[in-house]
Formats: sequence, C-alpha cells, structure tokens
Amino acid sequence: MTPTPAAEQEDGEAMSTMIGPRPNHRGLPDRFGRVATDLRVSVTDRCNLRCTYCMPAQGMDWLPRRDLLTDAEIIRVIGIGVKRLGITKVRFTGGEPLLRPSLEHLVSATVDFRCADDKPPVAALTTNGIGLDKRVAGLVNAGLDQVNVSLDTVDPERFTTISRRNRLSQVVTGIDTALAAGLPVKINAVPQIHSYHSDVPQLLNFCLDRGLELRFIEFMPIGANGWRRDATVSADDILGVVQDSGFILTEDTKPRGSTPAQCWRVRSADGRTGRVGIIASVTRPFCEHCSRTRLTADGQIRNCLFAIREADLRSVLRSGGSDDEIVAVWQGEMLRKSAQHGVDAEGFADSGRRMSAIGG
Ligand code: SAM
Ligand code: SF4
Repeated sequence: MTPTPAAEQEDGEAMSTMIGPRPNHRGLPDRFGRVATDLRVSVTDRCNLRCTYCMPAQGMDWLPRRDLLTDAEIIRVIGIGVKRLGITKVRFTGGEPLLRPSLEHLVSATVDFRCADDKPPVAALTTNGIGLDKRVAGLVNAGLDQVNVSLDTVDPERFTTISRRNRLSQVVTGIDTALAAGLPVKINAVPQIHSYHSDVPQLLNFCLDRGLELRFIEFMPIGANGWRRDATVSADDILGVVQDSGFILTEDTKPRGSTPAQCWRVRSADGRTGRVGIIASVTRPFCEHCSRTRLTADGQIRNCLFAIREADLRSVLRSGGSDDEIVAVWQGEMLRKSAQHGVDAEGFADSGRRMSAIGG
C-alpha cells in the first residue's frame, strides 16, 4: 500500500462519507492494520519552562480556560477509551502536566478503570520535573506507574540557555525524589546541535550513575518551531558521539514492540551498565508500528503527533453527546490516520499546533 504523508491526508468531509462511523466496532484500528492502545492526554498547554525547540520566549497565546477539558470530561474520555476502545496505557503530558493541580485525581480515576483483561491501564507521566519532588508521594498513592522526566543537559548554564529558566537543580531534585520513592524513571533528552558533543556523554554518565534509562529524541518540526533538518541531531550523530566517548553499545535483545525508541545496552569504560534508546522520528521513523492516539488539552482527538487535522470531541462532550457518539468520532479519526507522517519528505506541512498544545 502506498504510504500517505500526513501533509496529504484526505479531506475530512470526503473521508467521513467514504468510511462512516462504526459505533459498535471495538478498538481503535486504522486502515493500515495498526490498532491504537496507547493514549496520550495533554492536561494543560501551559508551562513553566520555555524550551527553545518547543515554544517562544514569551510563551504562547494560552488556550482560554473554558476551552480546556474539565477533570470530569477527561475522565469520561479515558473511561470510554479503556472500557470500550482497548486503551491499555494512558500517559499524562502537556504543556507541563504538574501545573494541573488535579493531576493526582486524574491518575487515580484512570487506574480505577479496568481493561478487557480486568487489569487497570498503565498510568504514566511525562514532565519537566519541576515540582515533582512535592508531588511524587501523591502521584504514587494515586497509582502512577512510571514517569519520564525531560532533561536535555546536566550543565546548569546550558540548561538555562535551552529552557530559558535557571531550574536544573529543581529537576534533579524531582528525579532523585521519584527514584527514592521507587517510581520507575526514564530520562528524555532532545540533543541540541551546538552542544550535543558534551551533553550526550554527560547525560549518559548522569543516568548510568543513577540506574536511569535514557531516551534521546530527534528534534522534530512541530508548530512552526524553527525546525531545520540541519539543526536536527540525528540518531547517527548520537550513536557516533556515544561511541567516540568510550561507551560500548550492543543491540538490545528485548523485543521492540510498538515503542518508538530503538534501544541498546550500554557499558561505560569503567564498567557501569544500562540501557539507552533513540526516538528517531525524523531519520528512522517507526510509523508502521505506531499504537498511539492523542487527546489535546482542548478536547481534540489527534491520530498522530504530526496530523494536520483533529476531531472535535469537546463539542460532542459539551452538547450532550452519548458514549456511542464519542466512540464513533474517535474511531472515525483513527481511520483517517496516515501510513506515515512524512516529516522528512519534500513538501511536508505541519499543522501549526505547538507540541505543548498537542501533548508531547
Ligand atoms: N513539559 C513536559 C516535558 O517537557 O516533559 C511534557 C510535555 S513536552 C511537549 C513532552 C516531550 O516533548 C519532552 O520530552 C520534550 O523534550 C519533547 N519535545 C518538545 N518539543 C519537541 C520537538 N520539537 N522535537 C522533539 N521533542 C520535543
Ligand atoms: Fe515546557 Fe515541556 Fe515544552 Fe519544555 S518541552 S517548554 S518543559 S512543554
């Protein structure tokens, strides 16, 4: 089947006539044999950092409060996803999800639902780590299973340059508190073109010292964020600098499944061992195994991070829509998912929605 880049997705009107909603069909399949089981929920578009690759220095035109889904609306959508549509993992993200005071409530309501196998869904969080130390106990009590903390450098000056805020020590405190509470922690890092030669080995040492798994993410073109192909530190660049810094990599034997990260076992020259992964969405896309679906902070369903369209679930929720109608809108949107996002292809058009609004 010829892949259709996101930029060439069919017109929504035409597609709904062609496919039509199928309210009684279980699950979230698309036209290419993939089934979404992994839901990303953005709980706010606001943030306390201003990472240069994510948002402008002055911040964004934040969504009006009335447009953000309420707790009850988010919980209803998650419940329908888990009970009727085969969602088995829910990741809370943003913006900065810790800025939502009710995050603990959202987590505990999520793990109260039961999947088809009678188990609760996995509850995960992606955060910049600021204030995590004060929330860890509550989040663990609520049932949070894992946390990914974003950290692009362990150099205080470069942290301030990249995030435009002097907050490195708070992030590290958040990571260490989560580890002390026994919460599984992974680190996400977007390597920067001007500093990755230093940042990549320093981050790896930081993670090996703490027994943390590290995931590098290639800089992606989302929401007119100044992306350039030549500003992207590629998987090859990262692997090169890791090996040049004396770390030994061996292919990971764990099956990759639908995870977007390609992983390796890593050993340092002084014998520390761990695991490192690369999410190479630009240079080594993994679309054929994608299992994700997204709910934005303002209640839109997105079938792909790079989709140029969304389905408006908030209107359905706020006009008294039934669970069947929500199921139909969600399934219809997944059936519009493209085979590939095509970000590295000639003519790729991004949706103009920022990562912080979509939920990374
Ligand atoms: N604020 C939280 C955080 O930073 O972890 C959650 C939201 S953030 C949008 C989620 C992830 O997206 C972070 O790991 C961040 O580094 C990553 N990210 C943001 N913009 C990106 C871009 N243009 N390319 C690649 N990753 C990006
Ligand atoms: Fe905020 Fe996360 Fe975007 Fe950085 S990457 S500005 S922490 S939402």
